[in-house]
Amino acid sequence: MPSKEELKQRILALKREKNAVILAHNYQIPDIQDIADFLGDSLALAIKAKETEADVIVFCGVDFMAETAAILNPDKKVIIPDTGAKCPLAAMVNPEELKRMKEEHPNAAVVSYVNTTAETKALSDYCCTSANAVKVVESIPEKEIIFTPDRNLGAYVKRHVKDKEIILWPGFCATHDSLTVEDFTAIKREHPEAEIMVHPECRPEVIDIADHVFSTEGMVKYARASDKREFIVGTEKDMAYRLKKENPKKVFYAIDRAVCPPMKKTGLENLLEALEKMGPVVKIPEKTAEKARIPIERMIAIGRGEMTS
Ligand code: SF4
Repeated sequence: MPSKEELKQRILALKREKNAVILAHNYQIPDIQDIADFLGDSLALAIKAKETEADVIVFCGVDFMAETAAILNPDKKVIIPDTGAKCPLAAMVNPEELKRMKEEHPNAAVVSYVNTTAETKALSDYCCTSANAVKVVESIPEKEIIFTPDRNLGAYVKRHVKDKEIILWPGFCATHDSLTVEDFTAIKREHPEAEIMVHPECRPEVIDIADHVFSTEGMVKYARASDKREFIVGTEKDMAYRLKKENPKKVFYAIDRAVCPPMKKTGLENLLEALEKMGPVVKIPEKTAEKARIPIERMIAIGRGEMTS
């Protein structure tokens, strides 16, 4: 059984040999965060995937993220170390039901969180991430919006965008939706100086008691710039690892039961195996990819502040 250090050395050597880049989401386990070339939220990783000059993208995250990278890079090989790393929120949209909803609301634009399957994206007009959902919805001309799949993120957008009718898809992320006000107040009682940062996939009552609502990259930027010293991290627990590593003089309190099981399926062993075998490769049918690319490209343009259409 090779040691962790041996596994890491073999991964790094193979990565160089194959001209591969390792992209990892902020919710990955610490070992994967440490070995990644880029760490980020869905938006940052989608942008990196589009810009990379590597021949191979190894995506340490969940299915929809690797699919997004594949859609944006039809000429590159995109690999996901564990094909079982499937986001349950993304699976909550049934494409047939979405088609029916579109027929019922012919003037509505469909805005889909990037946490959706390629098929759902292909039926959408725009994608968004938690970092730019409000900006995306504000910037599009349609007054009626079908927002999929996360009802909590959709409700958060509704709070900020008053002049649109937003129809919410009833999906939710169990990792965030199960967090309660008491999870936060219990930590706050022990650490009254700590600021509460939460992800917009949390329930509205949790949003109400938060000091800040951020995507994971928003948390990174805020914690870096803030003169506060203590923070309660209202998202997946391994987010706190990155925050602690980047801000060693500050204190971050994670909620230990906030675990995303599919994000934990990637480890050093299957990452190494994926590089050795150059697979599993993420494949999206060409027609679906062509259609799905449009809302993703629009999202990236808005995320960078260059609104296209
Ligand atoms: S945290 Fe929730 S939305 Fe994010 S990948 Fe996990 S299950 Fe999906």
